[in-house]
Amino acid sequence: MPSNMSVTFLGTSSGGGPTESRNCSSLVCDMASDSLWMVDCAEGTTRQFALQPHSLQPRLSIQKVNKIFITHMHADHLMGVVPFLRNLLFPPPTGETTVYYTKRTVDLYGPPGLRLFVRQNMKMTITRTSDTYRVHELLNTGDVLTPCNSVPKDDMAQMDASQPNVMHYSELAGSDIHPDEDGLWRNITAHQGQSSGVVADAGPILHRDPCFGYVFTETQYPTRKIVVLGDTYDPSAIIPLCSNPSPSLLVHEATDSHVSEHADPSGKLSRRTPVEVQQKALARGHSVPEMAGDFAKKIGAKMLILNHISPRFPATRHPKDFARQNIINDIEKNANEAWGFGKRCKAAYDYLRVKIPVQFEDQTQDGTATDMQAAQPTTTSLSGAPVDVSGAHASAGNSSGHQHPQRGRGRGSHWRGGSSRDIEMLDTPRYRGGYSGSRGQWRGRGRGRVATEDARGMSDSDNTRGGGKRQRTF
Ligand SMILES: [Zn+2]
Ligand SMILES: [Zn+2]
Repeated sequence: MPSNMSVTFLGTSSGGGPTESRNCSSLVCDMASDSLWMVDCAEGTTRQFALQPHSLQPRLSIQKVNKIFITHMHADHLMGVVPFLRNLLFPPPTGETTVYYTKRTVDLYGPPGLRLFVRQNMKMTITRTSDTYRVHELLNTGDVLTPCNSVPKDDMAQMDASQPNVMHYSELAGSDIHPDEDGLWRNITAHQGQSSGVVADAGPILHRDPCFGYVFTETQYPTRKIVVLGDTYDPSAIIPLCSNPSPSLLVHEATDSHVSEHADPSGKLSRRTPVEVQQKALARGHSVPEMAGDFAKKIGAKMLILNHISPRFPATRHPKDFARQNIINDIEKNANEAWGFGKRCKAAYDYLRVKIPVQFEDQTQDGTATDMQAAQPTTTSLSGAPVDVSGAHASAGNSSGHQHPQRGRGRGSHWRGGSSRDIEMLDTPRYRGGYSGSRGQWRGRGRGRVATEDARGMSDSDNTRGGGKRQRTF
């Protein structure tokens, strides 16, 4: 019997974050085994584990993370790696105490430069651990190598940042991995799960700087496949890894989006035309939801989750947050229309968990997706009453597609029937604060916990926050 496989989003903001409602990029794939694979590790990721809502069951354990995949070297995807390793790796014994436990090694995969970044930061923060780590770099011809020179264990050079080629105290030599002739990195690592092996491949995707998408595929039935893309404005080079079988789940960035006047009557967001929005996104190496929908269509993905969302579009944190939810609905609608494959796209938010079904109702024998409308998705509202979550049904009677947030959000959502054949999404809103409609602000339970993301997130200027001007980087 195949085991559960799921993806949990720990951070869903673009580089303009973190914000009050989203941390920056990180997600965790439960590969149907005792191991978790993490993709990207933004600043604050360790704390996102600690802040998991109790409704998220089973909870993610940091100690089960044994592989970390970094998509690219931008700060909003990387700056949590060293704090995370400090938390994950067991510290060395002190004094006379003898602790018996099985030593472990954590593997990291990513672009050239990742090895040096981790090594030097581990040295400069004077980090020592009993457990070990190693960094494997995905290299192209001409990339600068970071050697893995070793010195005796008690040599101070292991903690000396002025010797970049000498490995850190806790480091093991990693691999320099080169692509196949077609420019794709196949089988960079594998793991035997409870019912199937899982292999990881990587492909280059176009962004401002070198960037990867990762593809995780089961080697035996039910051969589920998860495709997680880093920041991109054109991921087409990874397409050969996205077939046989087609992906069960595609995670694609949608940093910016056009918003309709219906969703944003103020005009702060809606006054930007679709062309303007797309041109701006492309100029920064990013995508809009329509591009994500197009790509999902191209590779026959069975589920699409939009990720890496601008602070302009804060996540809803309350069932009555119509203003935010209508905008999110618009973003999902833009992707769904381009996808043309039902209304199965969802914009990610922190702690969204997507379970990957063993087999899709609408899957033909060769794995080609056919009609996604076959499944009848439902969710459970906060009041406990089952309500429809699919765009097709939730927008019934509302031709604009804008809906009451409770129809699309709730705790413990699941597809009707709840069998392992359907995708399951667990809505796990973390906050339970009140909403001050008159001021457009969320109010937390405790004193002083008033967030004002509406004010800054709804800003029409990409560079405005707190009244000042600054260059936003993604
Ligand atoms: Zn980036
Ligand atoms: Zn980014």
